[in-house]
Amino acid sequence: SKVLLTGASGYIAQHITNELLSHGFKVIGTVRRQEQADQLHKQFSEESSVLQKDPSLLTYVLVPDIGASDAFDEVLKSTPDITYVLHTASPFIFNDDRALEDVYLKPAVEGTRNILSAIKKFANDSVKNVVVTSSFAAILNADKFEDKSFIHTEKVWNNNTWDQTKSGDRGVAYIVSKKEAEKAAWDFVEKEKPNFKLTTVNPPYVFGPQKFDASAKKESLNTSAEIVGSLLHTKYPSDDKLFDDPLNLSVDVRDVALYHVLPLLNADLASRRLLVVQSKFSAQRILNIINENFPELKGKIAVGKPEETARVEAIKGPEYNNSVTVGLTGVDPIPLEKTVVDSVKQILRANK
Ligand code: NDP
Repeated sequence: SKVLLTGASGYIAQHITNELLSHGFKVIGTVRRQEQADQLHKQFSEESSVLQKDPSLLTYVLVPDIGASDAFDEVLKSTPDITYVLHTASPFIFNDDRALEDVYLKPAVEGTRNILSAIKKFANDSVKNVVVTSSFAAILNADKFEDKSFIHTEKVWNNNTWDQTKSGDRGVAYIVSKKEAEKAAWDFVEKEKPNFKLTTVNPPYVFGPQKFDASAKKESLNTSAEIVGSLLHTKYPSDDKLFDDPLNLSVDVRDVALYHVLPLLNADLASRRLLVVQSKFSAQRILNIINENFPELKGKIAVGKPEETARVEAIKGPEYNNSVTVGLTGVDPIPLEKTVVDSVKQILRANK
């Protein structure tokens, strides 16, 4: 069956493309520019024998701005028989100087409404499931960071509001854009009663290798992967910044990709928020993993205070319980150590 994947050029979406192809789905990705389409098709074709036999299993269409009105109408109108839609496109950047509302809130919320209403308008009879990439941001209660009795679960909603972005805080703007986008999705289903079933995937910080080594060659990686990448630019023996944020929850990008495909295979995941987590992390813990596994970096990057890792993590960082999600999927998460080792190996290989 056919799957429409929005934001197909993204870090997570490239892994989703891979997961979909390996499950035998036909993939139609939306990207902003033709060069992205050409490059991705070439990269996937180089490693996929099924794609070499049938290049039409992966195609791309252009959607330059998900926030523009009726952004997805044309695609849904002109592509028959789409069975599933995965909506991952959303701004996750911190280097755009336009008004915060235009950078984050509009594309996130309008993009979500646009895709859902286009499905209902033009593909209500064919689309069975829609998966929206939400975020742990839509669950997180940042004011409970040091409250060990507050447990983040699939039922919890973020308590930030757009008013709090008045000071220009981009982090809050991103978080609220994700919360409002997810709310818009559930509201749409409730009010518009489309035929499709909705699932959201709510990952915290997503780490792990890029789908293709070429993307690890860049000066800086996508926002979340760069948190691991930037530790390779720290100074020996220590770096004071290490003990600031982030201290949060993480998950491997390959698990996040899998969680986007599971709702297409398992009806029990319909109408659920899936909180997919590997463990708590701190910059210090990631650094420990790098130092233990890459002796060639000894003396070149920070060591910090490894003996403080557990103590610092115990004081701060969100408590969580995602046993509902794990009970439904049975997925054993890839551990942080493998995630970090695979990422660093790739960065070293790509930049040799
Ligand atoms: P990327 O920045 O790599 O991917 C974002 C994707 O969205 C890109 O394909 C980008 O296109 C596209 N996009 C952004 N804004 C627009 C727009 N206005 N019009 C059209 N396309 C747009 O980040 P990730 O892969 O990390 O993020 C993917 C999704 O996962 C997002 O919804 C994000 O919020 C969510 N998420 C990510 C987490 C993480 O830690 N990485 C954690 C939780 C959720 P282009 O490539 O052309 O810029």
